[in-house]
Amino acid sequence: MIVVGAGPGGSVAAKVAAESGLKTVFFERGRKPGEKNSSGCGLGPRMWREFPEMMKKLTPEVAPSLRKAACVVNHYLNKDMEEIAIEMYYPTESVTYEPAKSFITMNCYRSEFDPWIAGIAVEAGAELRTSVLIKDLVKDDKGKVIGVQTEKGEKVYGKVIIGADGVISTVAIKSGLNPRWRPDQITLVPQYDFSADRKKIDQMYGPDGLLADAADGIWYGTNFPAAYQVIFGDGFHIGLGSWMGQWTANPISFLNKLVSCKPFQRMIKAIDAKPREVQTHLLPWTQEPVRTYTDNVMLIGDAGGFPCPLEAEGVFPAMETGKLAAETAIKCIADGDTSKQALKLYEEKWKKASVGIEFQAGESMQTLWRHLMFSTQSEENSMEWFIPLWHELRGGFYDWSEPHIVRLRQIIKKAQEYLPQAMTFFSKYMMPVLTDAMGDQISLMPQLMKLMEGMRPRPKKK
Ligand SMILES: Cc1cc2nc3c(=O)[nH]c(=O)nc-3n(C[C@H](O)[C@H](O)[C@H](O)COP(=O)(O)OP(=O)(O)OC[C@H]3O[C@@H](n4cnc5c(N)ncnc54)[C@H](O)[C@@H]3O)c2cc1C
Repeated sequence: MIVVGAGPGGSVAAKVAAESGLKTVFFERGRKPGEKNSSGCGLGPRMWREFPEMMKKLTPEVAPSLRKAACVVNHYLNKDMEEIAIEMYYPTESVTYEPAKSFITMNCYRSEFDPWIAGIAVEAGAELRTSVLIKDLVKDDKGKVIGVQTEKGEKVYGKVIIGADGVISTVAIKSGLNPRWRPDQITLVPQYDFSADRKKIDQMYGPDGLLADAADGIWYGTNFPAAYQVIFGDGFHIGLGSWMGQWTANPISFLNKLVSCKPFQRMIKAIDAKPREVQTHLLPWTQEPVRTYTDNVMLIGDAGGFPCPLEAEGVFPAMETGKLAAETAIKCIADGDTSKQALKLYEEKWKKASVGIEFQAGESMQTLWRHLMFSTQSEENSMEWFIPLWHELRGGFYDWSEPHIVRLRQIIKKAQEYLPQAMTFFSKYMMPVLTDAMGDQISLMPQLMKLMEGMRPRPKKK
């Protein structure tokens, strides 16, 4: 089996195949996996849930940048880039996977994570060939893929070829599975990496810090797309993205607007942070994966468009699809049939798995995000009413200048100003997500009816 790419997806595919006894080689264009210290550093709990044996070995000894994000801190900025609200969220009571009650993500630089996970595949018996760029696919006279060709012209043959080569996937392009992304399937994400004093980060974001264990942050504003902040042992990332074709100005200018605003600068000062690296990446953010298999070929992870449609979490989907593709290859090679009819099994597997379930609401979730957090550069700009409305509803009561009942009336009156946009938004973009989520099993109607009954006017006290 040949795997192109030694990111998280390729390494898991190589590991699973090698463990089963398949002769497995995986190619990496970098001098080592993770050489390009790209993002994708917030590791979600599904990785521990689905790969417990492996993930328990990811410790600060092998990955010094590892930091737990037990909660997320949201920052809200108004149109003048003033911070008008901060809120923190720990996992809620409805979380059923017990370990996920103690963390939202574990954060780790990919320059540490990728070599570590590739090492596990090598331990399992896979051959890792670094500094090898796969330039083309080798095809037989019927046009079926039978191998890969390196930049230096070497041809390597395999029964199954797995495209784990990320967003600009040579395997996807040359096999014809995905010759080109549409602009609405792909985002451009500029990001800054800052180094910071470990002790100062601990004081702010550590377990006993001011914002206890809040090593994930989201910055919301009305004039830049929502930005994520991922905090590590000795630094942090701040980045933001939007779909190609949706940018109205240089993407970096939006990031600069955020980074230079007062509240952000305050945070930088508090933890003594220094800019370390500028990165700009592409990230598939799709309503559904592309066609993921053909004769002798399967696409996994970013190459297949698997990052989740709501938040583009991509590391776990790459690992899960890597595992499923390798399991499919093992069976099909053993059966002596790696035709596309046989490899359809891969699609059946991922559709039933966690990643496939995620895409059952792919269209509604991606559309919701597009029209909220990332609508800031369009005329629609939902954040212009969302932020003040949220602020009013959550924070309006913290005011002693009037009797509380008067304040409540003022809040309701103000909130009503935003209702036309909010209601349109709710029915257009929120309802489809709720409908997808509820299916036939849950109905909110009885509770809603009860609520309406309780809203009848009460007799006034004399
Ligand atoms: C800015 C940003 C932030 C993100 N944040 C998160 C996050 O917090 N959490 C999360 O889960 N996901 C996040 N993602 C998504 C995540 O990074 C990806 O979904 C994930 O890395 C996909 O894994 P992969 O193995 O499919 O591909 P990749 O990680 O892209 O790995 C592909 C590998 O293939 C190699 N390669 C490519 N072409 C060739 C070739 N022709 N020959 C040989 N080798 C090749 C590359 O060098 C690379 O090592 C983020 C993405 C971006 C861009």
